[in-house]
Amino acid sequence: MTAPARAGRGSEELIRAEEPVLAHNYHPLPVVVARAEGAWVEDVEGRRYLDMLAGYSALNFGHRHPALIDAAHRQLDRLTLTSRAFHNDRLAGFAERLAALTGTDMVLPMNTGAEAVESGIKVARKWAYDVKGVPADRATIVVAADNFHGRTTTIVGFSTDETARSGFGPFTPGFRIVPYNDLAAMEAAVDETTAAVLIEPIQGEAGVLIPDDGYLAGVRELTRRRGCLFVADEIQSGLGRTGHTLAVEHESVVPDVVLLGKALGGGIVPVSAVVGRREVLGVLRPGEHGSTFGGNPLAAAVGTAVVELLETGEFQRRAAELGGVLREGLASLVGKGVVGFRARGLWAGVDVDPALGTGREVSERLMREGILVKDTHGSTIRLAPPLTVTADELAGALGTLEKVLTSS
Ligand SMILES: *Cc1c(COP(=O)(O)O)cnc(C)c1O
Repeated sequence: MTAPARAGRGSEELIRAEEPVLAHNYHPLPVVVARAEGAWVEDVEGRRYLDMLAGYSALNFGHRHPALIDAAHRQLDRLTLTSRAFHNDRLAGFAERLAALTGTDMVLPMNTGAEAVESGIKVARKWAYDVKGVPADRATIVVAADNFHGRTTTIVGFSTDETARSGFGPFTPGFRIVPYNDLAAMEAAVDETTAAVLIEPIQGEAGVLIPDDGYLAGVRELTRRRGCLFVADEIQSGLGRTGHTLAVEHESVVPDVVLLGKALGGGIVPVSAVVGRREVLGVLRPGEHGSTFGGNPLAAAVGTAVVELLETGEFQRRAAELGGVLREGLASLVGKGVVGFRARGLWAGVDVDPALGTGREVSERLMREGILVKDTHGSTIRLAPPLTVTADELAGALGTLEKVLTSS
């Protein structure tokens, strides 16, 4: 980041220019980012900010990681898109290495997280009809309250967030919602029609809610015993964030199907995938599912480079070690503006004393001090820096948080 920010419209002017032409489906913080490197972003006026959101974990390896940018550049110069009407020379390697990294057999490449979730739902239903023998159109899927699985009409149909749902019905039937972290409720909701249980191993958007130890192992035991699939949405929790490749590894659990996205695209292109055992993903036949862009060679090249970074274990290790710094720092703030927090690896939901402001207000104050975070809801903010952040940068951010919480 040596060259000065380009001359042109300033931040305030650009924000004003968006208002009449851009759909109002977001309420961004008033910062206009123009460039970035590693854990740092720079706005139009050249102000620098530590990125403690990391694109909701799409930037686990930081902005423009050299190995990922290099893989993308090399692929841009050779081949970018074929569609799946033809084979491309990057897809086999990507699928082999992603399957090996996640300890499974098969990969269904898609683009966005919501598409991976939709694809997982389709695979689970197909499995229920073809393998389990559920009568046609009767399959059910058990999901958790306060889930976040994306924004398509089917997915918001089983959300419990009224803002996400309201005004978008009618919704797809076949979903049963049970409280998160409640095995008895899940047990009661599963029956002979149940294709799958679909949950986040840690609920990110809900405020980084970590279930009790034993919950994920319990879901695995329950789904195996009752003859339905365990589908884990690791789109935000996976790929290093929690100190493991997958968050389910915390309980040594192997789901039947894992949904990946966000960091799989290295912060460069949208890449998602459904990964799972051959007995499950093998139910799909030609023509039954697809995507024009899914598995494109550029995505496969970047995705392969992401898998290569994770194969070293370095990022998982960093997340675990720096997670200790994060946890200790947050623990020292409890009673000093923080009323509670939940953290695993480099991922934390921090409940700020509501008397000090909403999560949004705290985020705005942190922004003015050069730290970018995002509230989840109420007075909860989420911290999820790139896994490349240093201990000093993290300590600095925690110091700024303390300043913001104790000086107001
Ligand atoms: C972000 C997210 C999704 C949706 O991903 P998109 O790429 O935004 O469609 C699904 N599940 C979880 C857990 C997520 O965090």
